[in-house]
Amino acid sequence: MERLQDRVAVITGAGSGIGLATARRFAAEGAKVVCVDISADAGKAVADEVGGEFVACDVSDEASVRELFDGVVKRHGRVDIAFNNAGISPPDDDSILVTGLDAWERVLKVNTTSVFFCCKYAIPHMQRQGKGSIINTASFVALLGAATSQIAYTASKGGVLAMTRELGVQFAREGIRINALCPGPVATPLLMDLFAKDPERAARRLVHVPMGRFAEPEEIAAAVAFLASDDASFMTAAQFVVDGGITGAYVTPL
Ligand code: NAD
Repeated sequence: MERLQDRVAVITGAGSGIGLATARRFAAEGAKVVCVDISADAGKAVADEVGGEFVACDVSDEASVRELFDGVVKRHGRVDIAFNNAGISPPDDDSILVTGLDAWERVLKVNTTSVFFCCKYAIPHMQRQGKGSIINTASFVALLGAATSQIAYTASKGGVLAMTRELGVQFAREGIRINALCPGPVATPLLMDLFAKDPERAARRLVHVPMGRFAEPEEIAAAVAFLASDDASFMTAAQFVVDGGITGAYVTPL
């Protein structure tokens, strides 16, 4: 399938996990991929692999994000797809009782303010084009509460979800589709480092997943490619849930 032939796609957090799998998928579908990451080694490696371009950028820095999208349009003439995906989930973000302001502000800045910046500086280009697709990575934790709290992360993803809905509505008649992706737990470095390599902590979560496993990054990338493509032409302001059944479950299979 070459649904993204010659489209210019920006992916933040392209160096690892969901972003990396999506860079590969977008390239396989014909897109010109701009791989954005704060880590130069990881970002460069994926850009080289997919024949794309690497741009080093801290997405929580407003000037850098403005320069990112302006630079992409200067060099490539347009920006068709923005997958605003970079995010963090640090160990010092925990129960509200022990989480400090520093962790709270850091997580909100990287996970939510970054999406505000990426949308703010991608949308004007898409308005000029009269077309564009933005996908913001939220999470299933924006929809469900967990007793194993990461309070800042959860709040940050709730912010992404609500912001995305509003932007989708505001720009719908200008040809710009803006959707939120809500993945369930995915076997990426972010999740594995956090808890998945501890069997007990993994089992506590997997009991809630009807499919009984974590997602592979490629399964999320396939959903992103759909949202980015014209196959999703009637979708905007949506929360696109790809969660192995978690949000639909009460009692899961044994
Ligand atoms: P990951 O840690 O594997 O990759 C994240 C990438 O973002 C890394 O390459 C990192 O260098 C980059 N990054 C971090 N901070 C950055 C910054 N300030 N500027 C630019 N790049 C930065 O993570 P992942 O699991 O692939 O997660 C991707 C997104 O999906 C995140 O927003 C995450 O919250 C979300 N998500 C993940 C899961 C999961 O279970 N893994 C579930 C739901 C949502």
